[in-house]
Amino acid sequence: MSIYLDNNATTRVDSEVLQAMLPFFADQFGNPSSMHDIGAAAGAAMKTARQQLQALIGAKFDHEIIFTSGGTESNNTAILSALEVMPERSEIVTSAVEHPAVLTLCGQLEKTRGIKVHRIPVDQHGRLDLDAYRAALTHRVAIVSIMWANNETGTIFPVARLSEMAKEVGAIFHTDAVQAIGKLPVDLKSTAIDMLSLSGHKFHGPKGVGALYIKSGVPFHALIKGGRQQRNRRAGTENTPGIVGLGKAAELALERMDEENTWVKSLRDRLEKGLLERVPKAFVTGDPLARLPNTTNVVFEGIGSEAVQFLLNRHGIACAFGSACSSGSSRQSHVLEAMNLPDAAALGAVRFSFSHFSREEDVDQVLEVIPGIVKKLRGSFPFPAVGERRRIDNSTAAAG
Ligand code: PLP
Repeated sequence: MSIYLDNNATTRVDSEVLQAMLPFFADQFGNPSSMHDIGAAAGAAMKTARQQLQALIGAKFDHEIIFTSGGTESNNTAILSALEVMPERSEIVTSAVEHPAVLTLCGQLEKTRGIKVHRIPVDQHGRLDLDAYRAALTHRVAIVSIMWANNETGTIFPVARLSEMAKEVGAIFHTDAVQAIGKLPVDLKSTAIDMLSLSGHKFHGPKGVGALYIKSGVPFHALIKGGRQQRNRRAGTENTPGIVGLGKAAELALERMDEENTWVKSLRDRLEKGLLERVPKAFVTGDPLARLPNTTNVVFEGIGSEAVQFLLNRHGIACAFGSACSSGSSRQSHVLEAMNLPDAAALGAVRFSFSHFSREEDVDQVLEVIPGIVKKLRGSFPFPAVGERRRIDNSTAAAG
């Protein structure tokens, strides 16, 4: 695959990250819990990684971070912990556009434990309905879990403000920041955010490793039980090479953030402008003002995004359609559906997401081939009027 524009699904491991990890598979293979020198070296490397992450997210203390297997585990841990530490509360507030790592768990809790889940709606730009949010906040709420940035549209939610509102009713505030970390400046010590999830593979770290930030003093109940690792907060021998890679990726992300954001935004804007100029009846979804700089999600009216992605793939261009974190899934995008956009929910949108490895030639290549692809697809199917557009069940699947 020569052109990779699917960085919200996953990113390439940076070569510096890989180099930092390699010794921990071989010479420095020790168990961080062991008392001997080989173990101590692994333990020291983990401490460094924790500090590197601490710097990236602006945590006050390094012990506020526990390492996990990624964003999914961190989200599950945060929500289940809050229900354990606040047994007298039985409600969750989340949004209609969260990642399945939050929504699937919430749905299950609703069914199996009678937990009431408030899924706050969004408007056509994907912006959270603040009145509905305010109305859902009561002293019955154990945890609010609202994402920092949406994986499909890139829309950014005002989590600092939302966390302050949650505090007024004594709820724990958690944010799934998997798409925000490494892309947006974050300073947790100046917010009321209690818990935050992040994942290494979204910012040039390895897959299968992430972290959960738990603000000092916030009550916590471990999800994974067993040994005494990580101060009894997450049992199991730590994935030392992965954690070292996560730390290095955090260090690089912090160093490069300004430069990278300027770069990816310039590519993203150039792509959007070019697409809108060249392709009739196309529009960009998401909040035009508060959006991740690397993400664009485009609807080509009247044609299925899956078909566009399929043909782009034939030209060696990797992007994503609709939304699919669950590979092979053929469900529709709940995000586009929640945004209530005519056509988009049925036919999906194409997501292009950039990283610092992206190049101007990548954009040029997409702009060269897309008009022909859209024309061809619109030619093969009659372009139906809005009211007649059919739901195409086999649409959507954009990983991440
Ligand atoms: N949350 C969001 C917003 C995501 O985009 C993803 C990506 O897949 C996840 C959670 C899950 O993270 P992980 O793949 O590390 O489990």
